[in-house]
This record gives sequence, C-alpha cells and structure tokens, in this order.
Amino acid sequence: MLDIYKIREDFPILGRTVYNKPLVYLDNGATTQKPRCVVEAMVNEYYSVNANVHRGVHFLSQQATELHEAARETVRKFIHARSINEVIFTRGTTESINLMASCFGQAFMREGDEVIVSVMEHHSNIVPWQLLAERTGIRLRVIPMTDEGELCLDSYKELFNERTKLVSVAHVSNVLGTINPVEEIIRIAHAHDVPVLIDGAQSIPHLKVDVQQLDADFYVFSGHKVYGPTGVGVLYGKEKWLEQMPPYQGGGEMIQHVSFERTTFNELPFKFEAGTPDYVGTTALATALDYVSAIGMDQIAAHEHELTQYAMQQLDQIPGMRIFGRARQKSSVISFLVGDIHHFDMGTLLDRLGIAVRTGHHCAQPLMIRLGIEGTVRASFGLYNTKEEVDALVAGITRVAKMF
Ligand code: PMP
Repeated sequence: MLDIYKIREDFPILGRTVYNKPLVYLDNGATTQKPRCVVEAMVNEYYSVNANVHRGVHFLSQQATELHEAARETVRKFIHARSINEVIFTRGTTESINLMASCFGQAFMREGDEVIVSVMEHHSNIVPWQLLAERTGIRLRVIPMTDEGELCLDSYKELFNERTKLVSVAHVSNVLGTINPVEEIIRIAHAHDVPVLIDGAQSIPHLKVDVQQLDADFYVFSGHKVYGPTGVGVLYGKEKWLEQMPPYQGGGEMIQHVSFERTTFNELPFKFEAGTPDYVGTTALATALDYVSAIGMDQIAAHEHELTQYAMQQLDQIPGMRIFGRARQKSSVISFLVGDIHHFDMGTLLDRLGIAVRTGHHCAQPLMIRLGIEGTVRASFGLYNTKEEVDALVAGITRVAKMF
C-alpha cells in the first residue's frame, strides 16, 4: 500500500487553499502537479550546470550534455525501448504527432492512402492528419465505439485495405478513461503489415508501458502529464521506420554537414531534433520518471484503480448522474453530467468549493458529437489523490445539484 499522505508532502501545491478551501486537484488529465525533486532538478541545473549541449568543449557543456543524454537513457528504460536511437525528444504529444504526420506522411503516404484513427481521439491525433489530408489528399478512416465507450474491433478490422498506411490511436481516452486494447489493435494492424502509432498522453502516468511488449511502432507522450515539466515530450519510434523518414525541422543539431550545394543529416535520434533542445526540461522529465518508478507504476495503477472504482460507486448514487465511459478496462478519468446542469456551471461552482475539475469538450469534439452532448465535467485522478478528495467531490456535486 502506498502512503499517499507522505507522497502528498512531495507536492507543495497540494497544501494550498483556493477561496479559503483546501485545494482538491482533480484535473490531472490536463496536467499533473510537480514533486519537489522535479522543480529542484530544474533549479539545480540552471544554477550550477547550465550550458548549451552537444557542441561544447568546455566542462559545463559536457556536463549538461551528459545530463541530457542520461535523460534519454532514463526514458528508454522507462518505456523499455531497444535503443536510445529510438527516443526522440519533442515538445510533447502534440508535436510528436505533428512530426509523424509530416515525416511519416512524406515518406510513406500518397494521395488516396489512409490512416485509421478512432472516434475517441484527442484533436491532436485528428487535426495533424487532416492537415496532411489537405496537403496530400490522404484520407482518415474512423474506428467507431460502443455506448460503453469501447472501440468496435470488428469494425476496425473492416477498415483495412491496400491503401491503409498507418493506425493511430490513443492508449487511454482523455474523456472516457477507456484503456484501449492496444496490443490487439497492433496485432491486427501488423497482420496487414501496417504500423501503429500509440498516443500515450493519458497512459504514461497510469500504466506500465513496454513498447517492445506492445510491439508499438511509435509511441508518444508528454512530460507534463507524468509529473514532469511542460514543454518536453517524447516520440518513440522503431529504428527501421525512423531511418526511412525525412527530418522534421531544419537547423542546428540535426545536420552532419551543410554546404550550399548539399546538406547531409545527423544520425538518429538527432536527425529529428533541430535546434537547442530543452535540456533542462529533459533532465527534469527523467527526474519525474525516476520518481514514479521509485513509487512503482504497478502500485500507482492499483491505487488509482481503487480510487476510480470508489468514485464510480459514489457518483452513481447521485440522482440524475450520467457517467460517460463504462469500459471494462478503465483508467482514472471520469466524465459526467448531472441532470440538465450545464457542465460549465457545475465546474464553476465546484471551483468555488476548492475542487478543480475540467469542463467542456476536452479537445475531443468528434467524440462529443458521437455522445450527442456539448461537453462534460471531468474528474481525473493522479497518484496523490485520496478517498477523502473523492468524498469532497461527491459532496460538492450533491450540493451544487441541490442549488438547481
Ligand atoms: N492526446 C491525448 C489523449 C491527450 O489527453 C492530450 C492532452 N490533453 C494530448 C494528446 C495533447 O497533449 P499535449 O497538449 O501535452 O501535447
């Protein structure tokens, strides 16, 4: 069992009040709070190591480079990639998927080719493909889902044809909490010789991820959702694919030799990392990954599972409660509406009670259309949330509902 109260001491922000009420932070799907060690890693690096990485002969530059490359190794271990060549640092999930649309698109997709996504994708796994579609004439195919929020695998199988070039789906839905059967999704795609990109933005903080076991061709995530800093993220890709893809942006770091006649590119992973990287951010991301690893991903998953089960039970007692997403495999995200109370009103009034939830379409408007609603209230739990906080949420919702 985790000592959650001890863990909470690592997160100074959890001790603050809002509107004179203790903060109940249930917006972890949007971003997580940072433990002291992550912030200290950034402060320490800026105060005592800071220098640009990779090209410097001097002491500080070499030390900063060592930290940055050690962070890459920490990420490799965390997701169990085969090689550090497969770990590309980006600004986050969104940039990783845009890189894919741009570079995988250029290497492997032509007019009329197809990418399969699902109806529950975040906009950042829809719009980059739509932009590519506008540029090149590719097409999106969409996996439907059941009313419980599970992807229809039979329909998925029928989407494949000789024009299918990529499958790109979320591991965990940021609205429904559904844990998609990505292993099976990948197995089916591979039977058609189609590679798979997994959007791990909502799985990386909650589940143990092993890219080799999944056999994922690409896996992307953001540091800030896993207790790390904003502005850094990862694109994992199998070397055989990355080797064949052109660079994303041009600039420093990604070149081998530049002349006006002919420029050659750096090897992996640097080919995809133009410009000065956020080397302080990568150190802090590694610190965050070490932090959750020390607690144990299995322990975190078990705690969050228990919390989610408890919350679902308690929320279901509230008259007029409608929960969206009742998949058998569900992560710690709960979207709901109560009676005809507008999600924005519910969110605003909960905020006054010190309870931070998210309201709206959660960057998943096609999913809202599928559900026939405009938005939901979303409570999403992290490793530091407690049953008392679930009770505060339930009491808060009950109080707000009585006002209407
Ligand atoms: N995909 C999913 C499933 C997400 O939940 C999010 C963040 N809400 C993103 C992608 C985008 O992540 P970021 O804004 O960190 O790039």
